[in-house]
Amino acid sequence: MERIHLKDKYFVPYIPYEKLEKAIDDVADRINRDFKDFDGIPIVLCVLNGSILFTGELMKRLNFTCEFSSVRLSSYEGTLSTGVTRKVLGLTSSIKGRTIIVVEDIVDTGKTITDLYALLLDAGAADVKICTMLLKPEVYNKDLKLDYVAMEIDNRFIVGFGLDYDQLGRNYKDIYILDSKTEDKKPMKHFLLFGPPGAGKGTQAALMVDKFGLRHVSTGDLLRREIAAGTPLGLQAKSLIDKGELVPDEVVEGMIASELQSHPDVKGFIFDGFPRTTAQAEHLDAILAARGEKIDTVISLAIPDDTVYERIRHRAEVENRVDDTKPEIIRNRIDNYHAKTEPVISWYRKKGCYREIDGLGTIDEVFRKICDLM
Ligand code: AMP
Repeated sequence: MERIHLKDKYFVPYIPYEKLEKAIDDVADRINRDFKDFDGIPIVLCVLNGSILFTGELMKRLNFTCEFSSVRLSSYEGTLSTGVTRKVLGLTSSIKGRTIIVVEDIVDTGKTITDLYALLLDAGAADVKICTMLLKPEVYNKDLKLDYVAMEIDNRFIVGFGLDYDQLGRNYKDIYILDSKTEDKKPMKHFLLFGPPGAGKGTQAALMVDKFGLRHVSTGDLLRREIAAGTPLGLQAKSLIDKGELVPDEVVEGMIASELQSHPDVKGFIFDGFPRTTAQAEHLDAILAARGEKIDTVISLAIPDDTVYERIRHRAEVENRVDDTKPEIIRNRIDNYHAKTEPVISWYRKKGCYREIDGLGTIDEVFRKICDLM
């Protein structure tokens, strides 16, 4: 396998075709076993364009009768408050009452596959199984069960075997990664997503990760992970979060320092939900300065308190967060935002990197404004 050149970048071999074949053999065996006695004809649904080669390889190995169809997903539309996101395009078969095996090339944050799963069930599918060739467990942040995963990989940018760099490279049968030797090591560029709870920071951060390849770090998510794991830190944090209070600065500062340390190869970070106090902002700037880095832009999503309140109420139905359910807790979080977090704005205004945008548009409209800023 040789180094390949796509536009302005060089890529080197990462996963040889033989290893992919073996992983596809294994995943096909598992599907064959599960569908051996299946009563009916499932639809194998190829998610274009990336999974075209994988679907072909997988279909050859399936030894039960199945139908084939393919789809694309539209880009994001609708607003956060209505929860409308995307449409399924190009579906050729009727899926009412059918069992679907969705075939994806890669699942990273899990946004696309979760949207597709919900849309297929909405369109009347009886059952939806997910099969993906690759999974990046490090960045997957959804609860959706992935039924069949052929291979897990690190969070690297890859091309080949259906995956592209700017639409190129899909035809190569091996998988490649960026050649670090020819990549100029650029200094990291960090962004801070700022705004009240429910401003859409998490949603926009996931889109920024997909488009710009930055690493998303949300202190809220890190704390919820500690809580789920039942660690002492998690227990301490839970009692505060459940009341709508902030956790102590030192706790979140420690988490951020360890995130920065454990990811030396990323292009930069998107900080979400951090800093939430001026002390945290001072701390962040100091640890970045020690690395010769700084916050490039603070992107602030401005929305009025009434909308904050409504969005959090809506999110409570979707995400089952205790801190999202009770009116007095929501009010406390909003109060804490005004009292402790808003002063962070003047900290970054003084540094000249604070930019505010209207957070009330559709997901796509807000994202376009963010892209313009970046
Ligand atoms: P979030 O998901 O960002 O809304 O965070 C959920 C909760 O975690 C917050 O209401 C706080 O209790 C806690 N939390 C998250 N980030 C921080 C932070 N930077 N400082 C203090 N508490 C935080």
